[in-house]
Amino acid sequence: MLETSLGTPVQAATLPRPLDMLIATILSQNTNDKNSHRAYTRLRKKYKRWKDVADAPLRGIIAAIRVGGMANQKSVRIKGTLAAVKKRFGGYSLAALGKMDSNAVIENLTRIDGVGIKTASCVLLFSMGRDVFPVDTHVHRICGRLGLAPGCTTPEKTSHSMKSLIPKGKAYSFHTNLIRFGRRICRSNNPACDICPLYETCVFSGKRRSNHARRATLSTDHDFMLLDNVT
Ligand code: SF4
Repeated sequence: MLETSLGTPVQAATLPRPLDMLIATILSQNTNDKNSHRAYTRLRKKYKRWKDVADAPLRGIIAAIRVGGMANQKSVRIKGTLAAVKKRFGGYSLAALGKMDSNAVIENLTRIDGVGIKTASCVLLFSMGRDVFPVDTHVHRICGRLGLAPGCTTPEKTSHSMKSLIPKGKAYSFHTNLIRFGRRICRSNNPACDICPLYETCVFSGKRRSNHARRATLSTDHDFMLLDNVT
């Protein structure tokens, strides 16, 4: 249904390195994808290697990523993550993950302080091309409204519940379309139920259709996704 309404997203043929993706996910927190992309781009321009970031003073990192918001906290997390990666994998690279199955990747990554199953799943899907379905707060909200993950009160619980529901090979398409659907139609506040193609299946008690269909936007302006644009 979502592919019929929103199209079938196609993942890029060339994917970024897993460590690039891991740092990008830190920068993506609590900001929109355009600002986090600016922060990521400025950080990479200022420091050519992750070792340079690990060795840099916090104030230098903060200045580079300020545009993405919460720069003080994120700079500390980035340095802490890089230190943990070096300690665990022997250098500033996560190339060793490529030889592991997806469960082992999740197990290894979630041992790093601050890395949860959502971030580990993003690394798997967006930089390793694995058929793994990340659940963030937006995907969690929509799965709940659509009755796909009944009783799941957290993104982690939804993530476990959804595992058996995603058709083989569809994790990227379904994740991307749920993000698009959440931005264009099923917004957190003021969902555009008037134009929702899933109205009949939606179990959300707050769904509403007005008598006079109000104007609702199907703008694709907010389709830009950081994790598809990490280089
Ligand atoms: S009917 Fe409304 S609340 Fe339900 S999925 Fe559609 S937009 Fe979201």
